[in-house]
Amino acid sequence: MGKVMIVTGGSRGIGAATARLAAAAGYRVCLSYRDNREAADEVAAAIARDGGEAIAVAADVSVERDVMRLFDTVDHALGRVEVLVNNAGILAPQCRVEAMDAERLARVLAVNVTGSFLCAREAIRRMSTRHGGPGGGIVNLSSMAARLGAPDEYVDYAAAKGAIDSFTVGLAKEVATQGIRVNAVRPGLIATDIHASGGEPGRVARLAPGVPMQRGGEAEEVARAILWLASDAASYTTGSFIDVSGGR
Ligand code: NAP
Repeated sequence: MGKVMIVTGGSRGIGAATARLAAAAGYRVCLSYRDNREAADEVAAAIARDGGEAIAVAADVSVERDVMRLFDTVDHALGRVEVLVNNAGILAPQCRVEAMDAERLARVLAVNVTGSFLCAREAIRRMSTRHGGPGGGIVNLSSMAARLGAPDEYVDYAAAKGAIDSFTVGLAKEVATQGIRVNAVRPGLIATDIHASGGEPGRVARLAPGVPMQRGGEAEEVARAILWLASDAASYTTGSFIDVSGGR
């Protein structure tokens, strides 16, 4: 039987592409989502039509009890998780730091940072050889924004992704002797809904001329890097990053 993978935020974008590719590679997939049940159920149904196995579970990664329920559901429905993809992430509308209030900052950090920590915690409790688990892999979604800072757009989001970089390095070392590898991808400009949620649906097209490869990326191009980091082909790779950014 295939390994169990949890992809948070799997209803759309990079998470949905990762869930589809993982199922095609033989993983049994749980994709989580926050609001968009219809989209999540359709991703799971499409996987089933292609002969794969997937379930969709509503769970806000920033809410501790939701995260615990998500992992409990997977324990019962699919079995012990061996790969976690910490993909759920949000932007707030573009603005400068001088206009950011505490409520916005708390939300951006809660989903992008706290959510990744909570999901990793639940995954480690199940994967770690120290807890009798089989080991496993965690792949975090950072962003090129962590390096570039996202000025005039969302420095808060960029800083949250900077935290994900530190989290990846620290956690990788912490669990390195417990059979768990922890890595991250840094996507560049990828064609998904996230740019519209920042208030600029055409952002990828506007910025594409500044990308060395002169184009935005597709969600599946990021998913392929995630799948490689999760796989046994990356058995000596931990605390590492793959930039999937067309050279940006
Ligand atoms: P997206 O198209 O906006 O999709 C976001 C996904 O996350 C949806 O499935 C959404 O669920 C889910 N989600 C949002 N808040 C959540 C919460 N609190 N709890 C659980 N799920 C939640 O985003 P994307 O572009 O695919 O981005 C995926 C990841 O890649 C994010 O971490 C993002 O920061 C990162 N990234 C993206 C880009 C890019 O250019 N697209 C670049 C760099 C990094 P619902 O459908 O229910 O809302």
